[in-house]
Amino acid sequence: MLKVAKFGGSSVAGAEQFEKVKNIIEADPSRRVVVVSAAGKRSADDHKLTDLLYLCHAHLTYGVSCDEIMLAVEQRFAEIRAQLGLRFDVEGETEKLRARLSRDMSVDELVSRGEYFTSRLMAEYLGFRFVDAADCIFFGFDGQIDRDRTDKAIAAALAQNGRIVIPGFYGKLPTGKIKVMSRGGSDITGALAAAAVGADVYENWTDVSGILMADPRIVPDPRPIEKVTYAELRELAYMGASVMHEESIQPVKDKGIALNIRNTNRPDDPGTLIVEGADDRDNGERFITGIAGKRNFTIITLAKRDMSTNLTLSRALEIMDRYHVPVEHITLGLDSFALVSSSAVMGDALYDILADLRKTCRPDDIRVQDDIALVAAVGRKMSSRPGISGRLFKALGDVGVNIRTIAQGADELAITVGVDNRDFETAIRVLYDGFAG
Ligand code: ASP
Repeated sequence: MLKVAKFGGSSVAGAEQFEKVKNIIEADPSRRVVVVSAAGKRSADDHKLTDLLYLCHAHLTYGVSCDEIMLAVEQRFAEIRAQLGLRFDVEGETEKLRARLSRDMSVDELVSRGEYFTSRLMAEYLGFRFVDAADCIFFGFDGQIDRDRTDKAIAAALAQNGRIVIPGFYGKLPTGKIKVMSRGGSDITGALAAAAVGADVYENWTDVSGILMADPRIVPDPRPIEKVTYAELRELAYMGASVMHEESIQPVKDKGIALNIRNTNRPDDPGTLIVEGADDRDNGERFITGIAGKRNFTIITLAKRDMSTNLTLSRALEIMDRYHVPVEHITLGLDSFALVSSSAVMGDALYDILADLRKTCRPDDIRVQDDIALVAAVGRKMSSRPGISGRLFKALGDVGVNIRTIAQGADELAITVGVDNRDFETAIRVLYDGFAG
């Protein structure tokens, strides 16, 4: 068994968090590859190291001294070192940084030092070998990860050293320069490492006990999802749930490696397990895996008698395409259809679209409704159970939520309803309370 464990910024924010990480690593000897972010916030009014380093670079750009910020960076790391009794030469390293700051250091190299310092300290603390991301995460000339080279380098580093710590978020360009990924990129490094070493599980340790079944700003204290498939996660993410970026999941998804999201502050919680396939016994009796939704959509409803015989729908879709407005959902009847699109994306193009629809489709009637929200109940188990949609619609009807559109993907993974924006939160709460809680 081999596990790659990635720890986010809040999991390595200070000495106390480092201790939790050590306990987690020592509790399971199969956790042999550790990827860390830069130290994050210790409290709400604290700063992430990465933010401080970006700020430092902004000061340099405008010719303002960044001595104070660099000192704050140095002190954060020196404090962790002192509290854990480590030896890493923080001052020596920051001194070298200062000397190069205004001369030959790129913003990418500067901000990557957050991950670099944090991992140096973590490697020493765990007694693992530090492997610099500049020596094992490689970008090609196109700015994309060179997977072949990266896979080989990480696998070789693990084979040689047995237990390694890799800094997240950055890698090396073919020019030898350091390049950082998008913000939050340590997740990608973790997934790349897991794919490279063929891990059994990629553990992503953060400060929540997994992905929640609904938005906690709407549903108080929602329960975490125990198991979710990659396909369900995609639906939830698309509908606005805050989950990991698809890009960061891809390397492990491609290899069929399970991803386990865990809470560093509550290591006994099982977290959320994301897998390729899952069976009906998972998540107990619940047939809904999660609920998500987005506000502000517009519905264009077009009515035309016998429209199926004269290509009205395909012409309408061509028009939407011409204005680069994606259609999120279509509901179709014998003599009418409704197209649901994001109001923000449509913008003022709506009026031109309507004019073109009138001209090209010659409808009997055309109507526009805005302030629509889409709410999706996602669950792989819905397809195997009859009567689910009826129960969902009844629950919404019972509290007076008017359903404007209904859509179910052909794979029956999600049922999405369009409701008025003002019913958005009620709809999510009702679905959660009735079927998920
Ligand atoms: N430290 C970087 C950031 O703040 C990358 C990461 O945390 O994953 O975005």
